[in-house]
Amino acid sequence: MSGLKNNRTLEILRKAEEGRYGILAQCVYDANQALAFVRACEAKRSPGILQLFPITVKLGGGPFLRYCIDICHAASVPISVHMDHATDAEALEQAIGLAEQGIAFDSIMVDASHAETDEENIAIAVPYIQRCNALGIATEVELGRLEGGEAGLRVIDGGMLTDPSKAEAFMAATGADILAPSIGNLHGSYKFVEGGPNFRQEILKDLQKKDKVPYLCLHGTDEISDDLFRECIANGVSKVNVNSWLRDPYCVALAEGLTTKSMPEAIDDAIEALEQSAYRFFDLLGSAGKA
Ligand SMILES: [Zn+2]
Repeated sequence: MSGLKNNRTLEILRKAEEGRYGILAQCVYDANQALAFVRACEAKRSPGILQLFPITVKLGGGPFLRYCIDICHAASVPISVHMDHATDAEALEQAIGLAEQGIAFDSIMVDASHAETDEENIAIAVPYIQRCNALGIATEVELGRLEGGEAGLRVIDGGMLTDPSKAEAFMAATGADILAPSIGNLHGSYKFVEGGPNFRQEILKDLQKKDKVPYLCLHGTDEISDDLFRECIANGVSKVNVNSWLRDPYCVALAEGLTTKSMPEAIDDAIEALEQSAYRFFDLLGSAGKA
């Protein structure tokens, strides 16, 4: 982790782990959502992580990333900017290229979890991780594989779960800072999982107990209960990825507002809706008042 001493994402997670609370890592898709997230963090004195998917960075390029970094880093509370699920060379090359121009994410998920084996995962991820670290960018990796996505949801099978005994070696081999374990969590809806989400808390406990990884990130949090969030944080998760919980109220408020109000008024309503949803998460994760 040399070269990452003052890394903003890692500093936020270090304090969260010490204080045993979780950090809301929220995906945003446009400038107003980014603004709403920053305002919410400031209002509740909560640290936060603003996340962008590669597709959003592809669309907005350097100027949009610059905007996100500017508003996050200028905030009165610590907020970092993270690229979520950089799964292909195009996304990683764009992010690294922007960093070389001085427009740098604080952290990037170098996601090679599509690899067939751990060795292949490591071989794909390491060159990018080294380039990120040289630019002061922290990295997140995934061991095991989360199922789900926009379409074609499948129930995860045992073979895809993270093996805690392999995690320490995997983190050492990749040199990454944050691990996204596969514990039965999945992207998308849990509606089709019989009995609802079945998170193997013993995997988190094992990873935490032996201090095998620096930081743990929970993916696949749509529809999960407040208790499950709390349990995962108690078992060592410090970065909590959220997508639809804040995004959907924003979209609903915007869509409804536009039918009866002016666009600026509808946008105000949408920002307010995202902020209110964020407040709930800061309280739930325990980060409110920690900045
Ligand atoms: Zn994810």
